[in-house]
Amino acid sequence: MIKQKKIIILGSTGSIGSQTVEVVNKYPKLFKVVGLAANSRFDLLLGQIKKFQPKMICIGPDPTGISAIDHPQAPLKLVRGPGGLKQLASLPGADLVVNALVGAAGMDPTLAAISAGHDVALANKETLVAGGQLVMQAVKRKKVRLLPIDSEHVALHQCLEGRDPATVKNLILTASGGPFRSYSSKQLHSVKARHALNHPTWSMGKKVTIDSATLMNKGLEMIEAHHLFGIPPERIKVVIHPESIIHSMVEFCDGSIIAQLSTPDMRLPIQYALTYPQRLPSLVKDCRLDEQGELTFHKPDRMTFKCLDLAYRAIARNGIIPAVMNAANEVAVEYFLDGRIVFMDIPAVIEKTMSGFPAGRRIDIANITKADSLARTKAEKIITTSFNKK
Ligand code: NDP
Ligand code: MG
Repeated sequence: MIKQKKIIILGSTGSIGSQTVEVVNKYPKLFKVVGLAANSRFDLLLGQIKKFQPKMICIGPDPTGISAIDHPQAPLKLVRGPGGLKQLASLPGADLVVNALVGAAGMDPTLAAISAGHDVALANKETLVAGGQLVMQAVKRKKVRLLPIDSEHVALHQCLEGRDPATVKNLILTASGGPFRSYSSKQLHSVKARHALNHPTWSMGKKVTIDSATLMNKGLEMIEAHHLFGIPPERIKVVIHPESIIHSMVEFCDGSIIAQLSTPDMRLPIQYALTYPQRLPSLVKDCRLDEQGELTFHKPDRMTFKCLDLAYRAIARNGIIPAVMNAANEVAVEYFLDGRIVFMDIPAVIEKTMSGFPAGRRIDIANITKADSLARTKAEKIITTSFNKK
């Protein structure tokens, strides 16, 4: 019999968080939700609290609109803000922390969960981009499992399982190419946030949808794969595959390529991470290749979509530079969503922020946090002096 897992869902009201709840609801005997964290969608959070009756919840620091949650019935404990997220992530007795937060704010709770000895199912790729080395060292030290939720990494995890690492030649990440796949730089100058938010194959939170449109998402995922699987960046390739049926591939030394295919639906990689090492029936529609028709592949247009190369440059410099790149990207995406910069300004802001930033020698949490904060200030300054439309 499979042991019930006590789980904590950070970001339970978001795209990944809500789909995690769907997976949990499919297997209520396998999971007991003991903790939830959300920021603003309190109606959704309240429903989840009623259903799961967790021990602890965490809400964001914003005090508006939370009166319903402010006076929770005992024994529910309410914590708040970044400190609260760490407290929740290290709740004693939990088995697995699902990190579905967005942005580098997810790094501290990930480290807290690992320090407490909990396994982590990680959707929050920014954690590994900003602090990959620290996180992987902590995972080793505490002997916990860090399972990816990102579909590409779940694919790689399956293709690599049981293989001799010495036989791996390249990891091949697939990318849908986003809504602007075949656009020229000129066309990209006039695209608006509402166009970028219209992703052809995946329905996701706003930040990751913009990252998909700029190809920064693939850059972040390359760094994520580098840390998770210990493969050098130059052996992690990217191929555009608009149908999003092949979720990623591994090329071996004999020339064989092993791929994982499925209907594009995040509930499958989420379930893989939640039930690992078990494999169980899922909520996802069967993948009928005879109905699918063609699967196509192209080289990414790295001249037009510069974010991918910025990520390779950041990881080549290493140190705190990936954290700087990530922070600048978070700022630029926010300004783009607000209509204050144009789409093509996003890579320009990131490049200018990274430029001249020392990579640093000692990588610890204090240095990464400081670099993240300095990079945000620098990116905002660059935007207000060179790019701001308002
Ligand atoms: P969403 O924006 O949809 O969700 C983010 C979640 O985090 C929400 O529940 C939000 O709460 C919560 N949150 C934000 N700030 C805080 C805070 N300070 N305290 C507590 N909760 C907070 O993002 P996604 O689900 O799309 O993405 C999450 C992560 O997963 C990202 O790193 C993304 O790159 C990655 N990912 C996403 C995929 C997808 O399909 N969506 C696919 C692969 C990876 P609230 O809603 O209440 O404001
Ligand atoms: Mg992905």
